[in-house]
Amino acid sequence: MPSRAPDIAVSRLPRLDKSSALSPRAPCPCDGEQLYAACCGPWHAGLSASVHAPTPEALMRSRYSAYVMGLIDYLMATWHPSTSPGDLELSPVKWLGLEVRHTETGGDAGVVEFVARCRTSNGAQRLHESSRFVRQDGRWYYIDGHSL
Ligand SMILES: [Zn+2]
Repeated sequence: MPSRAPDIAVSRLPRLDKSSALSPRAPCPCDGEQLYAACCGPWHAGLSASVHAPTPEALMRSRYSAYVMGLIDYLMATWHPSTSPGDLELSPVKWLGLEVRHTETGGDAGVVEFVARCRTSNGAQRLHESSRFVRQDGRWYYIDGHSL
């Protein structure tokens, strides 16, 4: 899977409401230039059919989109059992865009550095994080992340 240009202009990402994000023909929440059906949609839909995001970056993007769309089941299913919170409640956050800065994969381990922008009751925020992923039985899982 080719990596993307690291400097996606966040300002070009369209604002999405939940109904448009759920349409396969809508722009993907993680990247306004890709259709949802050609980006994160297949990974969200494939959960029951054992179709999984093939790279740490694809998983990271699909998890960001899942946060945008409120897909808690997907977030839990892609969280490694060793670090999973067991339950998840999404806070009322308006997600505004994702920028993947850097990805690194070696064997069954991967790291994705990203900036996610959102708006909360405290105003606009910018989350700059590095997330760790692991591949187990051919499937990538999110382990944890730390702020940069
Ligand atoms: Zn996407």
